[in-house]
Amino acid sequence: MPLTPPSDLNPRTDPPLDFTDREFGDLAPADYDVLGFLGGLEVHQQLDTKSKLFCRCPAGRYTGRYDAEVLRHMRPTLSELGEYDGTALMEFKTKKEIIYRLNRRNVCTYEIDDTPPFEIDMEAVEIAIEHALLLDLDLVSELHVMRKQYLDGSIPTGFQRTAMIGLGGVIPFKVPELGIDRELTIRQLSLEEDSCREVSDVGHRIVFNTDRLGMPLSEAVTEPELLTPLEMRAAGQLLARVARAMGKVRRGAGAGRQDVNVSIAGGRRVEIKGVPHHLGLPQLVHVEAFRQLNLLRIRATLHERRVTRDMLAVPDDGLPWDVSNLVADVTQENAVHGIRVAVQVMEPDDVIAAVRLPGFGGLLNHRTQPGLDFSHEISERVRVIACPVGRPFMVHSDQDGADGVVRWKDIRESVGAETGDAVVVLWMPRQDAATAAREVLARAQDALVGVPAETRQAHHDGTNGFERILPGADRMYPDTDTPPLPIDKDVVERISANLPERPWDREQRYEAVGLSATEARWVVRASWGDVFDALLGSATGIERRLAYVVGLRVPVNLRRAADGRWSMADGQWPIASLRLSKRCATDSFASKRWRV
Ligand SMILES: [Zn+2]
Repeated sequence: MPLTPPSDLNPRTDPPLDFTDREFGDLAPADYDVLGFLGGLEVHQQLDTKSKLFCRCPAGRYTGRYDAEVLRHMRPTLSELGEYDGTALMEFKTKKEIIYRLNRRNVCTYEIDDTPPFEIDMEAVEIAIEHALLLDLDLVSELHVMRKQYLDGSIPTGFQRTAMIGLGGVIPFKVPELGIDRELTIRQLSLEEDSCREVSDVGHRIVFNTDRLGMPLSEAVTEPELLTPLEMRAAGQLLARVARAMGKVRRGAGAGRQDVNVSIAGGRRVEIKGVPHHLGLPQLVHVEAFRQLNLLRIRATLHERRVTRDMLAVPDDGLPWDVSNLVADVTQENAVHGIRVAVQVMEPDDVIAAVRLPGFGGLLNHRTQPGLDFSHEISERVRVIACPVGRPFMVHSDQDGADGVVRWKDIRESVGAETGDAVVVLWMPRQDAATAAREVLARAQDALVGVPAETRQAHHDGTNGFERILPGADRMYPDTDTPPLPIDKDVVERISANLPERPWDREQRYEAVGLSATEARWVVRASWGDVFDALLGSATGIERRLAYVVGLRVPVNLRRAADGRWSMADGQWPIASLRLSKRCATDSFASKRWRV
């Protein structure tokens, strides 16, 4: 049963297996074309509202302390179609205790699902409409709140309330330094509630802070039409500029987050979550492209060796070492002499399990990402799903130096391994070891598909790790707690009449008065853009030039401070930047009177 629709597959099915792996920066756009690289973005932006989206708790009031804790367990239920969702099953397998920390100043009974939703926050709806209009989307005539499955525990209900605002927009996508001059298709914009902030995740216990839960977010989704890592970054920056043009979005750490979707020829859309800034994005997606290529190489080798899914299957019932000859409990034989590293970290009732992977010999150390090999794909699945606490918890027969650690001859015999087979050895509590052994075989089965449908997590070094199985296509269903909300025409007209200038229109205006395309974009992004605008009214060409140069020279720390919240329209400066800017900003510079 495929978990995801075929549209998740890259349209090209011919992976360029002979293509040499290269570092980011060594590839030209034509090379990404050979790879069949396709990328798309989902940009989440917190909206700057007073209240949360479906209750009247204050938005943006973050707290470290808490007044109460709530404990929850996730349990999968059959969908209306009589099927279990793959993600739901995976989350259930992790047997997590989920702890929510509540602070009375920012959480009510809605967030923890003890009260139905209040009416949707109209301030958020209006900002989202404005955002959709800026992206040239066709607005929906009625808001219908939907439930999107969210099973990692970060939302206590197990779903996120989300409402489609607009669909099918096209915006200019011009990046002269990358030779881009075309349009970017925006698939949709939704208004949705934010999830909890994770405090810790150790073993079978995950702790969340609920202060952020329920805050309104807009989610803008592009079509997968970005063709290189640098194009993806440029598109992310463009979408950020559009959101900021409204002046009604939150700024700072965590206020804007993006998920990136990447695939290459023969691969499948893989979603990398929580990319915090644009800087590391190109490296991250480049690495993912080659991870997919290497998984496809592994698949090709397995096909040559005639490995099949059935060869890796374990019956569902019972402990895997009781029901399959691919798995053995080798605790007794090896506790003393065999696995020294395991013995050092083992608890008294831990089990050592050996798992045979037929035909995988030599493939577990096949490179996947810089510094990582295929065994990392396996250990990550085990870490996330079986939740072992000890480190390390696994060795394998392809590992360098593993011979000195494990008495492989005995272990190989215990699972009947032949030359050409690989063996993975795990140690952890009995139930976890059973889950882990099954997961090792499940990941090996996925290797026959090539690129499994997963969401992955961005790491700081540009690599990525397993997060969860990608949810099924039918993860959205109507919310029965909220009535449809017709969008008032007058409201739309009022918002349309007061739309801020779109970034590309502003850039054009600056180019018309003599700035280069790059300079124009720089002013649009700069916190002192308003000052430049104010000068434009009366200044001569030389004065404008001067304003631009002076703008560039404003000390970096002032600009950073002003980035926090600066609205010249209000004549207000944040205290911090006022303090920093004493030398640069005279009274007249900071007041409305200064405006020309
Ligand atoms: Zn609330």
